[in-house]
Amino acid sequence: MTPATSSSDAFVFFGATGDLAYKKIFPALQALLRNGELDMPIIGIARSGWTLEQFRARARDSLEHAGPVDEEACARLCRQLHYISGDYADDTTYARLRSVLRDARRPLHYLAIPPSLFPTVVQGLAASGCARDARVVVEKPFGRDLASARALNRVLHGAFDESAIFRIDHYLGKEAVQNLLYFRFANTFLEPVWNRDYVQSVQITMAEDFGVQGRGGFYEEAGAIRDVVQNHLLQVTALLAMDAPVGHDAASLQAEKLRLFRGMRPLRAQDVVRGQFEGYRDEHGVADDSNVETFAALRLHIDTWRWAGVPFYIRTGKCLPVTATEILVDLKVPPLAIFDTIEPPQSNTFRFRLSPEVVISASARVKRPGTAMLGQSVELVARRESADQQSPYERLLGDAMRGDATLFTSDASVEAAWAVVDPVLDLPEPVASYRRGSWGPEGAAALVSDGEGWHDPAPGPEDAGAAPPPSAH
Ligand code: NDP
Repeated sequence: MTPATSSSDAFVFFGATGDLAYKKIFPALQALLRNGELDMPIIGIARSGWTLEQFRARARDSLEHAGPVDEEACARLCRQLHYISGDYADDTTYARLRSVLRDARRPLHYLAIPPSLFPTVVQGLAASGCARDARVVVEKPFGRDLASARALNRVLHGAFDESAIFRIDHYLGKEAVQNLLYFRFANTFLEPVWNRDYVQSVQITMAEDFGVQGRGGFYEEAGAIRDVVQNHLLQVTALLAMDAPVGHDAASLQAEKLRLFRGMRPLRAQDVVRGQFEGYRDEHGVADDSNVETFAALRLHIDTWRWAGVPFYIRTGKCLPVTATEILVDLKVPPLAIFDTIEPPQSNTFRFRLSPEVVISASARVKRPGTAMLGQSVELVARRESADQQSPYERLLGDAMRGDATLFTSDASVEAAWAVVDPVLDLPEPVASYRRGSWGPEGAAALVSDGEGWHDPAPGPEDAGAAPPPSAH
């Protein structure tokens, strides 16, 4: 259980035959191999009694599905693959892993498995000696409430040092999310206005124009607050609102994020509007009387010196008009309306569009040509690009192998984030129904009491006639 600093020398993934492995992990491994970052045995473990050849075929199929195959990297991937077929509850599975690991001194175990199996696998790794000096990457969801997250942390700490635990939130691996942090702290002009004196409110919308895509059974156990608010959206809020870290290391960043999470006031029922799209209950695996929310809008308060009194409005939902994630920071209007006295005063905003394209921009007022002192809003665009160069999984798995925890979530932060949403999980009040293709139930509008109400992100260029992107929450 010593904190590890050197790079991992074996990559083990549990859940090797699963959906996540197919959609994300094999393509990330191919990219890491292409960059020369994965010169080590790659060991997949699952229950299906596949041969190594079948497993290799699955890897190739996954790469073809993801895009053009890099033949050289694919061949190397296939050469480095091992497959262990065994049940996670069976000790002999770990004994076989131990023998395949042979001389590996710092293996990385990636748990891409149903969360109910996390304790079984962690205990199996510990009892077999496979956890010694190893690292572990844990997929979401990390618990389903505060109590279960604490219990999972205890299980993990029984086998791994905190410095060897990497709780993955693939959102943090997105270039656009990292740019939030960079843009904030690499520019001096932002800091003087980034506080309650100048910011009126902050809005974060993560909208999807598709439904549960056949994963109704999974979604019934989650709902929007568990699926994306507790993790992705609170993480984004933390990066947007935290103070500057005092050092360059992961611990300094984690410390500031934790301080911010601890400043978030636990949500109350009146801060939340929950909705469910019409037809959700007809989905396969969904209960006829399901009260699970497919939409959530909430008003969050952050009780810190910087943010006291500034509402953070967070909204997410399925079957909304567009697929886009966007942050709008709305500044206060000037103290006196000297110009533009006919129209209501307009504020300046900062806009961070995280997907489908990446945009960082600010809106400013300029005078319209002509004799009247009337203005118009213009957008000053600092960055506009189509998508991530590197997939979040490639970035995060590479970081975990090097032992860099900067883009992962600590035990204390994950618990602090659960503490914020815990009071509004499984509320007994019935969810409000909303039309597919609308911006959610009517009650959501009333939550935003200031400014012009919700800012609805525009559709991205990819939206026009494109198939829905695969859901990877
Ligand atoms: P799947 O159900 O598709 O895959 C589960 C995997 O676990 C399979 O490889 C299965 O093996 C294996 N498995 C299950 N039970 C056992 C057992 N008792 N012994 C041995 N192997 C077992 O899950 P996903 O890939 O969809 O999800 C995995 C994790 O990733 C979950 O925590 C999920 O929340 C998370 N996640 C998934 C995303 C996605 O898009 N799929 C997105 C973000 C996170 P076999 O098939 O051989 O039985």
